[in-house]
Amino acid sequence: MILWNDRLIPRNEASVDIEDRGYQFGDGIYEVIRVYGGKAFYLTEHLNRLEKSAREIRLPLPWDFGLLAERINQLVDANRLVEGTIYLQVTRGRAPRNHAFPEKTEPVLVAYTTEVPRPEAMLKEGIRTCTHRDIRWLRCDIKSLNLLGAVLAKQEAVEKGCKEAILVRDGTVTEGSSSNVFIVRDGTLYTHPANNLILHGITRSIVLKCAGDEGIPVKEETFSVDDLYAADEAFITGTMVEVCPVIRVDDRKIGDGVPGPVTRRLQKAFDGQIAHQCGQ
Ligand code: PMP
Repeated sequence: MILWNDRLIPRNEASVDIEDRGYQFGDGIYEVIRVYGGKAFYLTEHLNRLEKSAREIRLPLPWDFGLLAERINQLVDANRLVEGTIYLQVTRGRAPRNHAFPEKTEPVLVAYTTEVPRPEAMLKEGIRTCTHRDIRWLRCDIKSLNLLGAVLAKQEAVEKGCKEAILVRDGTVTEGSSSNVFIVRDGTLYTHPANNLILHGITRSIVLKCAGDEGIPVKEETFSVDDLYAADEAFITGTMVEVCPVIRVDDRKIGDGVPGPVTRRLQKAFDGQIAHQCGQ
């Protein structure tokens, strides 16, 4: 089953119009939500961010958010999803092709589930990454369907045998192509401030809270590529990658080239959040 606006329907009964503005302009927004043990993780926070993205692109959403959460939980139950993801997107809907907003819009919401295991090997061993120029627009805080900048960066990373592209704007590390980036230097955690140049990751905010609970000092400050190369530890965060150690950036080892102790502590604290929220 899938969620289509506010109804659960079989997947083969849904169809997207060729003049849907999401399809033609990327005029829409989305969320990816993790499911652990059959329960959606931080669902309210994801729906709040969806509401914020919608406001920023001036897309009025007609659905009651309490009801939407209920429908999403029903979708997970209907598909008997235990470990996986919910992909949810809303577009401005169908209209004759014209850049400006149509006079009357009926947004189209689609959500579906996919079984996906936790990325155990990456979490244990860490990943290789490479840097890439951040060629995206200046509203990266909106979770918009326009992902070409991220797609091109990720593809280059994959072609170099890396799992993530770390984006660099004017010498400053902003975030990953689909993750937020943290470094540890002298016991302090650094990550880019939550402004217009990065997505305000839900996992990022969970990790900042965990760091507070663990007594790890945090600075939401920008850092350079050289700071990243010279860091004691580095990791990325995201709904799909959780808290994932970075052991290499370009041709440099980070720290000893293995996941570091602060990263390990935060991974443990993050597991605690999963256990607490989803009873895993
Ligand atoms: N930054 C970007 C560009 C992303 O695409 C993602 C993944 N959606 C993130 C950060 C991580 O956000 P979250 O923790 O909410 O998944």
